[in-house]
Amino acid sequence: MAHNVTIIPGDGTGPELVEATRRVLEATGVQFDWDEQPAGEDVYAEEGTPFPDRTLESIKRNGVGIKGPTTTPVGSGFRSVNVLLRKELDLYSCIRPCKAYEGVRTRFPETDIVIVRENTEDLYAGIEFEKDSAQAEDLRRFLEELDGSAIRAHSGISIKPISVFGSERIVESAFDYAEANGRRKVTAAHKANIMKFSDGLFLEVARGVAERHPDVEFEDRIIDNLCNQLVSRPEEYDVIVLPNLYGDIVSDLGAGMIGGLGLAPGGNIGTEAAMFEATHGSAPKYKGQNKVNPTALMLSGVLMLRHLDEREAADRLEGAIAEVIRKGEKVTYDLKPNRDDPTAVGTSEFADAVIEEMSQ
Ligand code: NAD
Repeated sequence: MAHNVTIIPGDGTGPELVEATRRVLEATGVQFDWDEQPAGEDVYAEEGTPFPDRTLESIKRNGVGIKGPTTTPVGSGFRSVNVLLRKELDLYSCIRPCKAYEGVRTRFPETDIVIVRENTEDLYAGIEFEKDSAQAEDLRRFLEELDGSAIRAHSGISIKPISVFGSERIVESAFDYAEANGRRKVTAAHKANIMKFSDGLFLEVARGVAERHPDVEFEDRIIDNLCNQLVSRPEEYDVIVLPNLYGDIVSDLGAGMIGGLGLAPGGNIGTEAAMFEATHGSAPKYKGQNKVNPTALMLSGVLMLRHLDEREAADRLEGAIAEVIRKGEKVTYDLKPNRDDPTAVGTSEFADAVIEEMSQ
């Protein structure tokens, strides 16, 4: 039976990346009933909204989507489509595998980690008070009366909430991923030695969740130490679960360790829906040039296939992508030793090479 999947081309280089990814997904032989829907600046220009209701309804109906990047204008215009999506669908778990494929230039060829980032709380909850605002002043006074805490005058204040509910479900999601994908260990990262009541709570909850998953090893690391160890002994790490802010930063560290943004896939998973997309943005300066690397979105497609329990197809597609990269001939400019290499192929030809590899 065909899988009903919402497919969102996005804007900038999104449509070309999505088209290349759609073709390789179809070439696995898995049947899809695509429901194409708009999001981003192109539909904003036509309809005055970057995220029409019909797009949201489609994702809710299908429960699964794959999305090209969407531009967020700086300073004016509309809010990030991705933030809207995560909020509307409560996509609380961001899963970002970072695997260094053979043939990619990296100082960390042993890297094969999966970052599981909490998506809804922490300093990103958006509870902020502007310097010198009446609210910031009230809060400063309140805290001083409450327990003598002295916040300096003219401070901007951001609140860092971390809940039992939020921590429990993100750590569960990390263990679920580990069990479903044959991973041996989950590491929880935190700064519980300093932030005892937020990160400390995260750690305490993580330990409790770990007890319910005795077949997967569990350990914890202080976030600064984790960063140090990731770049000195990456092979010792497997699945890493983190609160929102640390997860954001370590995701980019991971993308750098595996050879760049063009290679870093992602999935945002919630209880009602899952949305798969690359870590990178819309790279607008390359729009319409058939130039950028579709690997990150294709690997997001691999994650989607696994989510749909199409494991054999997922392994086959991942293997074909890895093989094209290993051979290093029909790859995009960013995977060539020299970025001006005239033998680099375009987005679409990279997809052709992956499809050819799968047919062998
Ligand atoms: P970007 O990721 O779009 O591009 C940064 C640079 O990385 C590019 O100039 C390019 O050199 C390189 N790059 C990115 N993707 C690549 C690929 N597939 N192949 C080869 N090289 C690639 O980041 P940016 O310029 O900061 O953001 C552009 C827009 O994208 C912004 O509006 C931003 O808000 C948005 N954005 C969207 C998403 C999303 O939709 N998920 C994520 C991040 C940023």
